[in-house]
Amino acid sequence: MALVTLGCAKNLVDSEIMAGLLAKGTFTMTSDPAAADVALVNTCAFIGPSQRESIDRILEMAALKREGKLRGIVVAGCLAQRYQADLLNEIPEVDAVVGTGQVDAIVRVMNRVLRSPSSRILEVGPPGTAVDLASHRAVSTPRHVAYLRIADGCDFRCTFCIIPALRGDLRSRPLESVVAEARRLAEGGTRELLLIAQDSTSYGADLYGEARLPELLRELVRIQGIEWVRVHYTHPKTWSEALIQVFEEEVKICKYVDIPLQHVTDSMLRRMRREVRRADMERLIETLRSRIPGVAIRTHFIVGFPGETEEDFTELLGYVRGAELDHVGCFAYSREDGTPAGRMKEQIPERLKLSRRQALMTAQKKVATSVWGRWVGRTVPVLVDGPVAGRPGVSVGRVEQQGYEVDGVTYVRAADGAPAPEAGAWVRVRIVRAREYDLDGEVAA
Ligand code: SF4
Repeated sequence: MALVTLGCAKNLVDSEIMAGLLAKGTFTMTSDPAAADVALVNTCAFIGPSQRESIDRILEMAALKREGKLRGIVVAGCLAQRYQADLLNEIPEVDAVVGTGQVDAIVRVMNRVLRSPSSRILEVGPPGTAVDLASHRAVSTPRHVAYLRIADGCDFRCTFCIIPALRGDLRSRPLESVVAEARRLAEGGTRELLLIAQDSTSYGADLYGEARLPELLRELVRIQGIEWVRVHYTHPKTWSEALIQVFEEEVKICKYVDIPLQHVTDSMLRRMRREVRRADMERLIETLRSRIPGVAIRTHFIVGFPGETEEDFTELLGYVRGAELDHVGCFAYSREDGTPAGRMKEQIPERLKLSRRQALMTAQKKVATSVWGRWVGRTVPVLVDGPVAGRPGVSVGRVEQQGYEVDGVTYVRAADGAPAPEAGAWVRVRIVRAREYDLDGEVAA
């Protein structure tokens, strides 16, 4: 079988679980769909562009099937949850559709597709994954780094977001199960844990009646072998004093806060139903910066949200120019059926959305040049992710303030004649140059 994974890290963990279950079910993996019996496409449906990419990949598999190179196509993930039987009706080459809550049925579905190719299977139920299948995972990231999904689903109801409809309400994994998985990963060579959920800062609120992320982090940093614990997808509304204290006190917690702000004007935040105001977010970021020296702030904004005025955008642009954020991503608002914002009247023309996105990212590029420029001359620890193809003696890695696969990187040049540092190695690096989001450094003597 061939496995195509699209979308976010949470979807990647679902793919790893399905790959693990299928391997136990005697399926062997190939990276070439044309050489496989069945292709499993684990899709994303977050916004329009990711839906289009998912459909394009399914149609690629459909072409292989029409050429007789594939016997079956199974579609899983968020697009499967969203469109269900429509996928079977619209794309006749698709044999089975598996929902986000039915990951554990994948072996049975794949066997049925192979046994009776014309069976057309719809295996979709209420949204939300049986979150505790982690023990079956076939981890696909390099040995020294691994995602750790602590929960799935979300209790917020941001008006632009389709995720709760596809992934359900917040469901946290029991703390013991998360810690046990982290121990297994550490025994397997993981040095950096990447904590993921839709809303990590609410971890435990459903299971324990209160958020338990601080407690979980204190457990994780005690695991032998784990050097970095990085928290992704925090929500500005659910940060707590206890959480700030853990970041402040535990050196293994990366000085890195991933906190999508989405916008900064109170009128837009209200229309987005973000449950926070500009002053709350600014106060939080100020507190994080004063209590966690050297902390990097990573965030995302949406421009062109229905009703966004020129004044709203000017205020956002002004904020970005002044806030000195370390990592900024920006989406042009994507109108999604089934969301409250999708029904709003004041939709913004596509051209204007894209020009606002361009203007914001251009402003951020200037900020990034100055923020990362300050690293030049510093000597810092870098975790190496691997060699750089075609550049002998050079590896790529990250400083603590750079997230895996989502942010800029640090290129590390070995001393003359020395081999490039290997994946998973910690090296002390003197930063000699900064290029907008990336750093260049030399292994320090
Ligand atoms: S916090 Fe908002 S944007 Fe994030 S997953 Fe939940 S509803 Fe969607």
